[in-house]
Amino acid sequence: MKYVSLLGATGSIGTQALQVIKEHPDQFRLCAISAGRNIDLVRKIISDFQPNLVAVLEKEDCERLKAEFPSGIKFTYGKHGLIEAAVHDQADIVLNAVMGSVGLVPTMHAIEAKKTIGLANKETLVTAGHIVMGAAKKFGVDILPVDSEHSAIFQCLQGESRENVSKLIITASGGSFRDLSREELKHVTRQQALKHPNWSMGSKITIDSATMMNKGLEVIEAHWLFHIPYENIEVLLHRESIIHSLVEYKDRSVIAQLGTPDMRIPIQYALTYPDRMKLVTKGLGLAEIGILHFEKMDMDRYRCLKLAYDAGMRGGTMPTVLNAANEVAVEAFLKEQISFLNIEELIEKALERHNVIDQPDLAAIEEVDRETRKHVYTLL
Ligand code: NDP
Ligand code: MG
Repeated sequence: MKYVSLLGATGSIGTQALQVIKEHPDQFRLCAISAGRNIDLVRKIISDFQPNLVAVLEKEDCERLKAEFPSGIKFTYGKHGLIEAAVHDQADIVLNAVMGSVGLVPTMHAIEAKKTIGLANKETLVTAGHIVMGAAKKFGVDILPVDSEHSAIFQCLQGESRENVSKLIITASGGSFRDLSREELKHVTRQQALKHPNWSMGSKITIDSATMMNKGLEVIEAHWLFHIPYENIEVLLHRESIIHSLVEYKDRSVIAQLGTPDMRIPIQYALTYPDRMKLVTKGLGLAEIGILHFEKMDMDRYRCLKLAYDAGMRGGTMPTVLNAANEVAVEAFLKEQISFLNIEELIEKALERHNVIDQPDLAAIEEVDRETRKHVYTLL
């Protein structure tokens, strides 16, 4: 029996992780959850899974839940609550599916508590990759990727030596606006941006997919997870989202992982690794699919991808600025305060004015994150 602490239980990844846990009651038990403000869903999760600890964002919600569920469950809230869920005594694995760099501190605490980490929260590795991976090494903790591309690469690397890898090829569906020109992007709306052709996901990552920042964040995430230099990480446009990513080895052999676009597959793999379990989902009918398409990525068309590569290569606090500026800009776009192309402009401005700190510690990263957010708010 594996005990799971699920951070971000009410989100898109969180609810799919709950489906996986529910499918295998003899294998998994949910011991702790964190959520933000979706308290109705928290109530339902409590009834369905009876976790021992529940962390929410607001104190008032915590008090209300305490009154409603008087026995047995510990309720907590805020940043401290998120950390309590991340280090829960019973947890064998902490599945981090919160959105944004708020996931960093709980990840660090979970690593220090020697919990295996299932990581969906890519912003954690983007903002502080060297610190997270350094701590994981120090405490002997596995970081198991949940992001579909990274799960694919992780699967392609099983039994292989890292020294034999010549490059990672990360596939990109292209997001909601893959067929629009930059001119046409000027007038796109929030509603159009939220319609992803292949995946149903949380709103922030859906916008990140439309700007291609999601792929940029994934390049940085891959760099840290697999210790591969940026020069050897390539992005390939692949509309069908069937091949989730590939690894090329030095003998030019290429290994790919394929599957239907269903996040429960990589979520379950992180939970069962190194084993596998049955999952009830549609099999891959390659004969029906017939043809798969691949195109070179256009860095001028997808400026956010270029910004992410540049920030990753420059290193230090640059990716922290990239991520924080992006989080604020996407939130503003979702609130219809700015246009779609304003997102990349704001990120570019934040990166341009930043005096990079090399080898920042956690405190420096938190300060740069805070300062960048403040600056971008003044630009809105
Ligand atoms: P959602 O927006 O659907 O869910 C986010 C979760 O985090 C919710 O449980 C939300 O709570 C909680 N949350 C949000 N803000 C805070 C906060 N300040 N403090 C504590 N909890 C908070 O996101 P997704 O599930 O789509 O994505 C989660 C992570 O996984 C992201 O990093 C994303 O990039 C990554 N990912 C997602 C994929 C997907 O298919 N969705 C694919 C690959 C990676 P509530 O809703 O209760 O307010
Ligand atoms: Mg992905």
